[in-house]
Amino acid sequence: IWNAALLELQTQLNEENIENWFKKLRPYECSDAKLTLLADDPFVRIWVRDNYLDLIEEAIEHAAGQRLEIEILDGDGLEGEEVENIDVDLEPMAARSARLDESGAQTALFDFDSLEISAPADLDALVSAAGMNPRYTFDEFVVGSSNQFTHAACQAVASGSGQTYNPLFIFGGVGLGKTHLLQAVGIEMLRRNPATRVKYLSAEVFMNQLIQSLRQKTMAEFRNQFRHDCDLLLIDDIQFIGGKDSTQEEFFHTFNALYQSGKQIVMTSDKTPQELPGIEERLASRFAWGLIADIQPPEIETRVAILEKKAEDSDLELGKDVTMLLATSIRSNVRELEGTLLRMVAQAQLMNQPLNTDLARQLLKRMNIQHERSLNVEQIIRTVASHFDLKASDIKGSRRTRAISEPRQMAMYLSRKHTGESYPELGRKFGGKDHTTVLTAFRKIEDLVETGNNEFAAAIAELEALLLR
Ligand code: ADP
Ligand code: MG
Repeated sequence: IWNAALLELQTQLNEENIENWFKKLRPYECSDAKLTLLADDPFVRIWVRDNYLDLIEEAIEHAAGQRLEIEILDGDGLEGEEVENIDVDLEPMAARSARLDESGAQTALFDFDSLEISAPADLDALVSAAGMNPRYTFDEFVVGSSNQFTHAACQAVASGSGQTYNPLFIFGGVGLGKTHLLQAVGIEMLRRNPATRVKYLSAEVFMNQLIQSLRQKTMAEFRNQFRHDCDLLLIDDIQFIGGKDSTQEEFFHTFNALYQSGKQIVMTSDKTPQELPGIEERLASRFAWGLIADIQPPEIETRVAILEKKAEDSDLELGKDVTMLLATSIRSNVRELEGTLLRMVAQAQLMNQPLNTDLARQLLKRMNIQHERSLNVEQIIRTVASHFDLKASDIKGSRRTRAISEPRQMAMYLSRKHTGESYPELGRKFGGKDHTTVLTAFRKIEDLVETGNNEFAAAIAELEALLLR
């Protein structure tokens, strides 16, 4: 069974992976409910258990025709007994690194090169060593229609099923998650196989390193690190090399060497290859050989989901209203969305006040953030009117039949909520009404919405969906 499972695993994982981890396991005992594997090396045991157990279970299920529980035990001196305390801490890593010390091998605990050949350190350490942010994982990325395609392409590449997507070229505006997704590919590859040699760098750093190597006459090393000692090249902001001829020349050769040896390349950029200014045609055309994927600004649902996720990650309670206000105020940049949320929460804490919409609006104003596509009162009146088959002049007029006065009150509520204009100003914009009329309408609808479960709450939800699309 184990050999059959190995065969299946070999079709899914690369050879290095199989050699490093799976070939170091041996079957020990098999009942009809459980397969016990032994690993002599505690690192192998922990690593496989933490990272590959699902895969093994699946392969065994295919091979055995039924699901078996998989257990991996320490084979070193094991006499058929389960090892206690299978949740080994990372203490052995220090021991391992000490052993390396004595043998004169590379010693730094988080030295990337030594890790490749020896102990799988914890993933964050690998990620940090490669210059990436451990937070930029697929798990932390909120998927919506604006980024779904690129997200899927990145996942395909990271899982190794994206061989045809080489290179993968990601483009999109500022703060939309390009760097995040680029690093997510690297992190996921490292998670699947910590021996993957991931090079992550921005095009600017590439250029700086090139210049330094030229100065110090270490070009051979510079070239080697990319052309030979690299399985996955992640280049951020490739647009930077536009107009920089010798950097382009060098990158051209790097690209060719990696491409020819079947290594994956992923790049990000603010424009499509063809739109990039100052990029030689031969490079631009190569950038388009694989897959070109774009990221668009997130739509309202995704902005809300991102805010909710960030709030949850930081253990923040964020009211629906505040979330909505932020998501409608900041539309085209996730970094800004995230930053504003955190600043707001910090300021509310400093002021020792709950973060409600009033405070949030005040803070937004102070941070100088206007509604990017702010709703105005006219727009709200028109939308409400047409929703109820009325004319804008009905809403602004003074007739008080229910069919008119109720939509009018809803329009007032929505206007106050989404424009934040003062009651007297709103009174003027609703055809010269007293500010108390607007205030009363606002309070009434607000109460109804808060109670939920009535026709007013439902109508407001529908109207907001229309207005905030
Ligand atoms: P870009 O490289 O496109 O300018 P980044 O990748 O640096 O943008 O993203 C900016 C910030 O927004 C980062 O903190 C990133 O984690 C966050 N971010 C962007 N898109 C998303 C998303 N879809 N889900 C979660 N966080 C996101
Ligand atoms: Mg970036």
